[in-house]
Amino acid sequence: MNRLFAIFLVSVWSTLLWAGGDAKSQTNESLIHAGFAQVDITPDTKASKVYIAGFGDNRVATGVHDPLFARAIYLEQPGGKKIAIVSVDLVGLFRDFVVDTRALVPEVDHLVICSTHNHNGPDTLGLWGPGLGRSGVNKSYMKSMQNQIPVLVRKAISNSKPCKMFAAKAAAPELMRDGRLPNILHDDLVILRFDSVKTGKPHGFLLQWNNHPETVDSDGTLITADFTSPALATVSKSLGCNGIYLTGTVGGLMTTIGVKVKDKSGAEMPLKKFETMERLGELLGDKALLAQQKAQPVKFSNLEYKGKVIHLPVENKGYQAFFKLGAFNRKAFVETSPGNYESIKPSEAGDRKFWMQSEIGWVGLGDAELFLVPGEIYPELVLGKFQEPVEPGADYPEAPLEPSLFSMSGAKWKMTVGLANDEVGYIIPKRQWDEKAPFCYGREKSQYGEINSLGNETAPRLSGAFKELLAK
Ligand SMILES: [Zn+2]
Repeated sequence: MNRLFAIFLVSVWSTLLWAGGDAKSQTNESLIHAGFAQVDITPDTKASKVYIAGFGDNRVATGVHDPLFARAIYLEQPGGKKIAIVSVDLVGLFRDFVVDTRALVPEVDHLVICSTHNHNGPDTLGLWGPGLGRSGVNKSYMKSMQNQIPVLVRKAISNSKPCKMFAAKAAAPELMRDGRLPNILHDDLVILRFDSVKTGKPHGFLLQWNNHPETVDSDGTLITADFTSPALATVSKSLGCNGIYLTGTVGGLMTTIGVKVKDKSGAEMPLKKFETMERLGELLGDKALLAQQKAQPVKFSNLEYKGKVIHLPVENKGYQAFFKLGAFNRKAFVETSPGNYESIKPSEAGDRKFWMQSEIGWVGLGDAELFLVPGEIYPELVLGKFQEPVEPGADYPEAPLEPSLFSMSGAKWKMTVGLANDEVGYIIPKRQWDEKAPFCYGREKSQYGEINSLGNETAPRLSGAFKELLAK
């Protein structure tokens, strides 16, 4: 072999090695297949009475301001997991509905269904019917909405392409209020952009933020998805692709009610109006767009999913009554021996304690992670920012602090997905539980929150279950 030819061979070999190494690092670190889709799930307000979810009973819809959607992101690691996340513009869905829906979508290993917690969509839980204790759920709407989900997931699968992920974060405290003391906000938005490997252009995005979509408050009787649709539209228009909105940490109480939104001229807009809601969405979208200009590549290794069934005691007397009246379309459970539960008819429970069966979950995308929380979690339980010292009026000032979700992971990009696969109500730090006098902050009565929580054991049990789930 002459020397020149040997050098040539070495050089070709090292080029091949280099190329091989590069291709490998691309597969392992930055490539995931992602697909996006959406379907309209607006109820027909002319065909039958639609009871609006949120702000009291007997709010009947008089029309539609803007359509409600179910949106999906499909994630696949070739040769690995297939996961679909569906986000619906609804107040919440119980786990029984989610479990039934999973059977309709055998194409994926894991189907996550979460709600944006929209307060101007139809009652899908049974809490806001014609009168107290009477469900406003329309069964035929639930069926037709459920039948759209497999169609939606298949659309997202067919839209799937190899992508590289880029993430960015920004705080948006000016677009939210804390409706309950102490003032602890989870104000970060996270935008995860999926760029097509082939074209280098954005193929889709995921926008995650932590707020109640209830800007129009109790005044409106028109169906709307609230700020989530204008936020997504703003980002979609600029990036030229579809996206999905995921509602995160909304307890504690992260709300759009009372937020002073400014119009383009800087003037304060009136509260409870559709144009104010639209503007809030646009401002959120603008913020996400600005942040993603400096998006950083997300290191991708494996697409992972972890999930766990949990049981939570139903201490809330109102919820117990709703169960017994049959307003809640979900199974009730009793504990037959420690840690073992059996499904029962609520009317047959007698004096026995009720339990709800729910689930927690986690999706790993390398350096980005989603914590799937089955309800409305307080920011303290996510961020670990507990009030110190504890408020003396609290009912359980000595209760141990729950381990916070984000402390359980070293990932760079962490997101809460609230109302994921279930809606169990508020998840309140036990030290903040305050039903009995004397009340916290020198108040004459309890703050709003406990009335829509299963009980003070929810947070310790849920945090403990996450700790077990994510233990290495
Ligand atoms: Zn809520």
